[in-house]
Amino acid sequence: MNKTLRRPVIAGNWKMNMTPSKAKALISELAPKVEGKNECDIVLCVPFVDIAVAKEAAEGTNIKIGAQNVHFAKSGAYTGEIAADMLVEAGAEYVVIGHSERRQYFGETDETVNLRTKAALEGGLKVILCVGELLSQREQGITAEIVSLQTKIALQGVTAEQMKNIIIAYEPVWAIGTGKTATADQAEEVCAIIRGVIAGLYDDAVAKATVIQYGGSMNAANAAELLSREDIDGGLIGGASLKSEDFSIIVSAAN
Ligand code: PEP
Repeated sequence: MNKTLRRPVIAGNWKMNMTPSKAKALISELAPKVEGKNECDIVLCVPFVDIAVAKEAAEGTNIKIGAQNVHFAKSGAYTGEIAADMLVEAGAEYVVIGHSERRQYFGETDETVNLRTKAALEGGLKVILCVGELLSQREQGITAEIVSLQTKIALQGVTAEQMKNIIIAYEPVWAIGTGKTATADQAEEVCAIIRGVIAGLYDDAVAKATVIQYGGSMNAANAAELLSREDIDGGLIGGASLKSEDFSIIVSAAN
């Protein structure tokens, strides 16, 4: 019942794949496959240099463009970083923040995730905020605690009004890029826990309105079952978003 209040979001995370010319080709291939599938938002989070080309290729389609990271300062001496207004001007509407690969390889912490989240919101971007436990944490039985803490720290200082522009992506780290998908029960359980955390931080209305995605080896074969669950409102998809056919099947599952 509450699920029907939320519009699913199917987002592709291309990671460090696709040159601008390949981006253009993939979007041209994908666009007719997802045409008319308007019961969900379709987003492609692409490398920075692909944003402008991707935006142009997606013009007139139902595909929206996002980035994969943003810095928390507005401008300044941060060599190699990128600011929210640069992303917006290039054509990004969304940004992924706190992906486990950034936490694992690039020193991202809950605190920097929070700073980036606030900067992205202030800059007019919609945020896909990633949280998720390591395999060792799941085995220790502390998944709920880890994911709750990540969510609480990431959302410090984010207002109820700004929550309209926040999507939470529950991504168990052990399921990302591994081909091991969480079962629908496991994914649903944690997405429901996250919704409870949001209810505690804000109220029931905000919790019921917040889109919570599952991510971690979601593919054409398992998407429908995952997306059928009450608290799973979409997907953040890595590998399968690089294949137009597979990604379009996932979009169809959300329709
Ligand atoms: C991701 O990059 O967020 C992701 C879930 O990747 P994959 O679908 O390849 O596991």
